[in-house]
Amino acid sequence: MLSGWKSSIGRIGEVSHLVCFRIFILSPYSHVLILEKPNNKPMIKKETIYLSILMLISISGLAQEPQISSVFPAWEEGYLDIHHINTGKGESTFFILPDGTTLLVDAGATQRPKPRVTDPKPNDSLTPGEWIARYIKHVMQGLPGENIDYALLSHFHYDHIGELYPEVKSSKNGTYKLAGISEVAEHVSINKLVDRDWPSYDYPKPATVDYMKNYIQFVNTSVDKRGMTAEQFKVGVSDQFALINEPEKYPNFEIRNIAANGQVWTGTGTNKRNHFPPMESIDESDYPDENLCSTAFRLSYGAFDYYSGGDLLARKLGHWKDIETPVGLATGPVDVCLANHHAYYDAMSESFLQAVRPRVHIIHAWAPSHPSPSVLRRMSSTAIYPGPRDIFSTNIMDATRVVIGAGLDELKSQQGHIVVRVNPGGESYLIYILDDSEESFKITSIHGPYFSN
Ligand SMILES: [Zn+2]
Repeated sequence: MLSGWKSSIGRIGEVSHLVCFRIFILSPYSHVLILEKPNNKPMIKKETIYLSILMLISISGLAQEPQISSVFPAWEEGYLDIHHINTGKGESTFFILPDGTTLLVDAGATQRPKPRVTDPKPNDSLTPGEWIARYIKHVMQGLPGENIDYALLSHFHYDHIGELYPEVKSSKNGTYKLAGISEVAEHVSINKLVDRDWPSYDYPKPATVDYMKNYIQFVNTSVDKRGMTAEQFKVGVSDQFALINEPEKYPNFEIRNIAANGQVWTGTGTNKRNHFPPMESIDESDYPDENLCSTAFRLSYGAFDYYSGGDLLARKLGHWKDIETPVGLATGPVDVCLANHHAYYDAMSESFLQAVRPRVHIIHAWAPSHPSPSVLRRMSSTAIYPGPRDIFSTNIMDATRVVIGAGLDELKSQQGHIVVRVNPGGESYLIYILDDSEESFKITSIHGPYFSN
């Protein structure tokens, strides 16, 4: 319907100062338009006014929203872009913050063979780390800095930091292998790396797996020889991932560190408390596992809130191995929630969902158990928390379809990169699905606008 109509500007936020009211055009498939007058609640109109709005915009010389099949437009100042990058081999999320500061959370690269994992995306001609680096370089064009300002590794599992394999390449300096995050850093430098256990890497016990030893070598070499800074994730603070370029312009932006290693923010000041018992009080066989130690944070931009908590889970409800519940209570309601532990059966508990009650769920899926049928049911249940919610997944495997069946039909998307684009100020946002079968950055569907709560 809009395909033949072209003009030049292109952002809904820009419309407001050019005409007397702000116009949101939903995807042409929704058949709904929203007009918002200053200081008034939105009034929803039907498509009967569609043509008149188009005429008005045409007369004004204003641009349309990005359309399906068009290339996802570049970030502009004031917007918050959150790219859930799908390589089919693990989790990786790249943030462009309102002043152009950048944050990469995880860069996984599992080497598990099919049929236990999703297909490599776009294909297997490059490694997951190389694809992530190329994606980041593309969306960073025009930003103030050329480096990734912050990289956060939520925890030390292969689908979040990268796994070794026989043909793995070595870094140019030869002291470590290139897998996941170390491979991304080979192509796009990282200014500051944050993880849950720098510099000792011994909580709750020393790391022993080969890919973790390689990761430590990567971090130490990068600090010693490549000018990278490393820090341990500080629970409770809101200044570890501060805006770098123009923080004074965005006083309503914050990233609050919620949890790591069993420490959880109390909700007051920067105070935290330990949800785990002292390690000396429990047997080593009962130590918290790597997933339970994941970092969690809440990003806020005005009214918009987003949660990311790695592979946190509720191993045992009502026990200290349910870390999700205190983390959810400390986080509070959010607009968009990245599913804990890829929506695996042991995550996204009822009590966590009741605490965060998101409008939008995003699942970084890479295995047939993502999402688990019971978790999808919980995420969808209005008995657990009321109101509408939309669910997006980066992948859905055929085996998952066999198990879950028609329950998957309610997902808004089952394949592709998932990009949340938050409008300046944070009042509203749209979700774009980008084609992951090639490096085209083409939009395959558009969802929203959603209004932040
Ligand atoms: Zn994981």
